[in-house]
Amino acid sequence: MSDTIFGKIASGEIAADLVYKDEDVVAFRDISPQAPTHLLVIPRKPIPTLDAAGPEDAALLGKLLLVAAQVAREAGIAERGYRTVINCNAEAGQTVFHLHLHVLGGRPMQWPPG
Ligand code: IMP
Repeated sequence: MSDTIFGKIASGEIAADLVYKDEDVVAFRDISPQAPTHLLVIPRKPIPTLDAAGPEDAALLGKLLLVAAQVAREAGIAERGYRTVINCNAEAGQTVFHLHLHVLGGRPMQWPPG
């Protein structure tokens, strides 16, 4: 398992406010929420960035999206709308180098994002 904080959350070494877990994927509340609902969906596999994912990860990447939709529905934000975001590398704002998908909802969103 990776040494990042998300690797430690995936392994249970560090606590998080989990909303979903299975053998491949974990989802939890962001510690610094940018919307009334702000969840993070991560693979247990320590893929550092989306750019580092390969064809062997295709099913896992699909599962991340399906789990994102599920946790959004369960959080009650699906009907009005929510945004999913993957920041890839520094200029996009990635700060934790364990692939993660943001799920943000509960307020109107602007476009384009900053
Ligand atoms: P990034 O900027 O796309 O890499 O997103 C990293 C996210 O992880 C940020 O929204 C942080 O607030 C969040 N974060 C960092 N540490 C923790 C933690 O220990 N628990 C939950 N969320 C965290």
